[in-house]
Amino acid sequence: MKVTEHFQKAKGKTLISFEVLPPLKGGSMQAIFNTLDALMEFKPPFIDVTYHREEFIYKKRPSGYYEKTAIRKRPGTVGICAAIMHRYGVDAVPHLICGGFSVDETENALIDLNFLGINNVLALRGDARQFEDKFVAEEHGHKYALDLVKQIQDINEGRYLDQTIQNGEPTDFCIGVAGYPEKHFESPNLATDLHYTKAKVDAGADYIVTQMFFDNQKYFDYVAECRAAGIDVPIVAGLKPLTRRYQLNSIPRKFFINIPEDLVREVMKAKDDAAVQQIGIEWCIEQSKALKKAGVPCLHLYTMGDTETSRKIASAV
Ligand code: FAD
Repeated sequence: MKVTEHFQKAKGKTLISFEVLPPLKGGSMQAIFNTLDALMEFKPPFIDVTYHREEFIYKKRPSGYYEKTAIRKRPGTVGICAAIMHRYGVDAVPHLICGGFSVDETENALIDLNFLGINNVLALRGDARQFEDKFVAEEHGHKYALDLVKQIQDINEGRYLDQTIQNGEPTDFCIGVAGYPEKHFESPNLATDLHYTKAKVDAGADYIVTQMFFDNQKYFDYVAECRAAGIDVPIVAGLKPLTRRYQLNSIPRKFFINIPEDLVREVMKAKDDAAVQQIGIEWCIEQSKALKKAGVPCLHLYTMGDTETSRKIASAV
């Protein structure tokens, strides 16, 4: 079933979904099953699986020179999605990014998903590789998520890259895209960011999932700005609890978001990380309850492999 059909079926009730990361290469699928086994009691309508492009690493050679090698540390997104659907009968949403893919490779990936019966996808640009200061598209690859959405919409209408294909089988992907209540870090301002987000929706995106936020007002203001800009699709609230003190700095650095003063003050007073985790969970529960009361279509928990924290939040909500 499509993500948007889940929203329709819920008839205004707030859903709760989870996002998991593929294990590090060499790791076991059991780790994902352990996480999800513990979360199935909350009946998530869908589960997202992130995509991680290759990174460059530099290996020192005997000559003293460094050799640049590309490695993918967390492969397996598509396989994990298929395994989730098979084991739990729950819809899986693979993240598909522009980075590292030529348009032909993207088309082939979409064909694989379609043949596996996966008809949901979160279309993203991806970030710059480690040690690169800006996102660089693959040769013959997409520069923006907008172009990826257009390609998915094309294949949904039976238009494949090879224009000699007559009567190509249309796919039926439900397309999600990312949105940023505190604006995307490369955007000069929120209005410009919303302009491009609207372009993704106009091109065929069916819903938006937000970047994490710790201040609900940012989400409510964002939804209001989206509606004013003519973006009328459901906006899923992305949430992640703070669990370690160092995240006061690492989260803003990595995700370009603010952490409210009250939360920072509480975390600074905490005697250790166990106390920080408790504060983070309580904060996320309060956020979730208020969002649910406001009628958000879905709370989307970034589990980051932390099953217990996600369980506590989902139980309380
Ligand atoms: P875009 O929509 O392409 O936007 C990128 C920037 O370009 C924005 O500043 C936008 O305003 C601007 N822009 C867009 N279109 C144009 C245009 N035509 N001309 C000029 N400027 C334009 N990353 C991963 O690698 N794997 C994941 O699994 C993953 N999952 C994510 C899930 C969620 C819910 C979110 C919010 C992010 C996720 N990311 C993931 C991170 C994401 O890839 C980065 O935030 C990335 O920097 C931007 O992706 P985007 O799809 O929002 O890009």
